[in-house]
Amino acid sequence: TRWVYTFGGGKAEGTADLKNLLGGKGANLAEMANLGLPVPPGFTVTTEVCTWYYSHGEVYPEDLKAQVASALDHISAITGRRLGDEADPLLVSVRSGARVSMPGMMDTVLNLGLNDSTVQGLARSSGDERFAYDSYRRFIQMYGDVVLGVDHGEFEEQLEIYKDENGYVLDTDLTAEDWRTLIERYKEIVERHLGRPFPQDPTEQLWGAIGAVFGSWNSARAITYRRIHTIPESWGTAVNVQAMVFGNMGETSATGVAFTRDPSTGENALYGEFLVNAQGEDVVAGIRTPQNITEAARIAAGSSDPSLEQVMPEAFAAFRDICARLESHYRDMQDIEFTIERGKLWMLQTRSGKRTAKAALKVAVDMANEGLITREEAIARVDPASLDQLLHPTIDPSAEKTVIAAGLPASPGAASGEIVFSSDEAERLKSAGHKVILVRIETSPEDIHGMHAAEGILTTRGGMTSHAAVVARGMGKPCVSGAGAVRVDYAAGKLTAGGKVLKAGDIVTLDGATGEVYAGALPMRKPDLSGDFATIIAWADAVRRMKVRANAETPLDARTAREFGAEGIGLCRTEHMFFDEGRIVAVREMILSDTEAGRRTALAKLLPMQRSDFVALFEIMAGLPVTIRLLDPPLHEFIPHTEEEIAEVAEAMGVSPALLKERADALHEFNPMLGHRGCRLAVSYPEIAEMQARAIFEAAVEAAAKTGKAVEPEVMVPLVGLKAELDLVKARIDAMAALVKQETGKDFAYKVGTMVELPRAALRAGEIAETAEFFSFGTNDLTQTTFGISRDDAASFLGAYQARGILERDPFVTLDREGVGELVAIAAERGRKTRPDIKLGICGEHGGDPASIAFCETVGLDYVSCSPFRVPIARLAAAQAAL
Ligand code: PEP
Ligand code: MG
Repeated sequence: TRWVYTFGGGKAEGTADLKNLLGGKGANLAEMANLGLPVPPGFTVTTEVCTWYYSHGEVYPEDLKAQVASALDHISAITGRRLGDEADPLLVSVRSGARVSMPGMMDTVLNLGLNDSTVQGLARSSGDERFAYDSYRRFIQMYGDVVLGVDHGEFEEQLEIYKDENGYVLDTDLTAEDWRTLIERYKEIVERHLGRPFPQDPTEQLWGAIGAVFGSWNSARAITYRRIHTIPESWGTAVNVQAMVFGNMGETSATGVAFTRDPSTGENALYGEFLVNAQGEDVVAGIRTPQNITEAARIAAGSSDPSLEQVMPEAFAAFRDICARLESHYRDMQDIEFTIERGKLWMLQTRSGKRTAKAALKVAVDMANEGLITREEAIARVDPASLDQLLHPTIDPSAEKTVIAAGLPASPGAASGEIVFSSDEAERLKSAGHKVILVRIETSPEDIHGMHAAEGILTTRGGMTSHAAVVARGMGKPCVSGAGAVRVDYAAGKLTAGGKVLKAGDIVTLDGATGEVYAGALPMRKPDLSGDFATIIAWADAVRRMKVRANAETPLDARTAREFGAEGIGLCRTEHMFFDEGRIVAVREMILSDTEAGRRTALAKLLPMQRSDFVALFEIMAGLPVTIRLLDPPLHEFIPHTEEEIAEVAEAMGVSPALLKERADALHEFNPMLGHRGCRLAVSYPEIAEMQARAIFEAAVEAAAKTGKAVEPEVMVPLVGLKAELDLVKARIDAMAALVKQETGKDFAYKVGTMVELPRAALRAGEIAETAEFFSFGTNDLTQTTFGISRDDAASFLGAYQARGILERDPFVTLDREGVGELVAIAAERGRKTRPDIKLGICGEHGGDPASIAFCETVGLDYVSCSPFRVPIARLAAAQAAL
């Protein structure tokens, strides 16, 4: 087996297509080398080695050693340097690289190959002794930290002590001699921890680093990250070993990161940051504040630090050309890392750049308009779930604001919450139902869980490409980074900003679009859905086949749904219309009376309320289809519990509270989700269904008269398992329709259909379709009943299922294609066989989940129905499914 792929010297053994094998970084390094770009030579140890390693008790394949050795020869042949050569040593970087970038993993060891004798060789070959010893101490610290497990704080502490002893302030004050002394102290720290000296053999160093990369695949942080982002354990990571180039060889050297377009706004302009005389991670670490790459960006930012364009015009020009080339080669916005060593540009990484939802839309629309990609590709480029970011509120511009601090607008959106200073605390408070803003000096991969729990993130250090900024953008959360005037005191649990002191628990509001931080919670405003958003959605509408409806029962929801482009209501849950003040008593009366006469009295009170609700819905939906589901009450939600509630209902019914309590107790169910629900209620008490049917039909007549548009209601019967259940209820509905037509003298069309949410209904869909004119898949209940997992109790144990890899995703969020999906497919097929024109839809939560929507397309459903805020997401997802 080939375990190792080389690159460099104008060619490579891999290509960008081999991402699964080489990881994202390795595949793109190969691609850049093939394009003839200046890539330091190196090699990639494949992801298959990682998988092999874990499936063989953490040992390597036998022939790996030899393959790595010959790949090292490949680097030597190009660079003329050999690992461990005392005169002119080869130094390498070792980086992890999974298929997708994973901040939870070990990322980099730089300067590998240095030891007590090669450092002298480096000093001679570079002609810079200070640089050589500085590199060696960095290597001991980095290797000590990520490979040997020595806390980097210990090295930093030694450095601080040394500076104090010698009256130094800055790292740059230290001479070669100083570094030499510190190196001895660093080595002692390592030896104390390890019980043996810092490894001097470069080959041993290399294998140590490779082992650390593979080990980090199973670190707690990486596992958490994979769980949050549903990345399979089986993917593994690759390891990239590459000849070092130095951005820290003095004032003609630099290192930086750039995006070919602005990752925050999508604007078509090169955007990036760099540091002169710095190495690798210094830029992203956010310790020094980086400078702008282009003059335009520098001027826009009002910065007086010179841009790369100013200080290294030639390297800048070369870099700008390569960026343009990479973008048109990959036909996507690129995120690029580079180093300039004594004026010579080197490319270290390119990948498709993470961007905000807003930027994703703009880049997709612009690129389609530029002719770089097709409209279909533009549609496919936007992650439907990310639109959520744009559907969220921004701060009402007319709000009274007290600015307490300002930083960089690192990730857009606005959020309010209580200040917390640690990620653990953020997670704890979030699970207790609080909204929190995570405030940190800077964040690291250890803060992922806290960032996940927080509504927004505020950091006092770091630029637009700092960890906090990049991760927050990926999560779609507002982030203000580098708010330098804020002083954070973790120990005291407070921050100071502009003379104000705020404690943990105090409320602040972040505006990630302006970078401002305000005191208190501010009023928010609805998002603007015009511009690129509207363009992409319009393109999506032109290609999608499935319709998108909304689950809505209130006029507000119905209006929101229409604003978001819903093409009808797919589910109006009538029981939700009764929770209002003033109605619940009448509903309780209906449920609790033990005679038909008593029920009819209560129903008579409910009829006008229902009718006017339906009129409002029909008017708002103006001729679009509206599916109204008959009452489906899990009874426990309606039965009165407190003495007060019981007394209120007893009075309304004219019975004693004691009698009423008895009746309520008798209605208690052990498993209400599988109890007297759905059509079972209509079978026991058909007069309830009749009242609802009357309300629906009378409302249809009234709304048609008001709007001048015909209303064709779809009456839906829930929780049907047997055709006979549906037959019985449908007979009552039909009779009521005839009666209303007679009473009003008006004709109207309507449909009667059923939810398919029980396995039996799915299996017997063929005969049920003899009666049902449409099916709507209630995949919430269908998932519950197929798995035998209670919807309400699943959360307490599904986490363990996901952690153990038994279930990759929560089946209540993303439809289980194999099991529940098979029932859906069977029902669709059998239903169509009986009734070829049967209308098929889905109204479970899955109707708003992009992966589930893709499944719905494969079984050819006519529409999906989801909550109003997910309608745009569903429109885009339905288009992607149809491509
Ligand atoms: C369903 O079961 O999927 C459904 C939409 O109905 P409810 O969630 O109201 O039970
Ligand atoms: Mg249901």
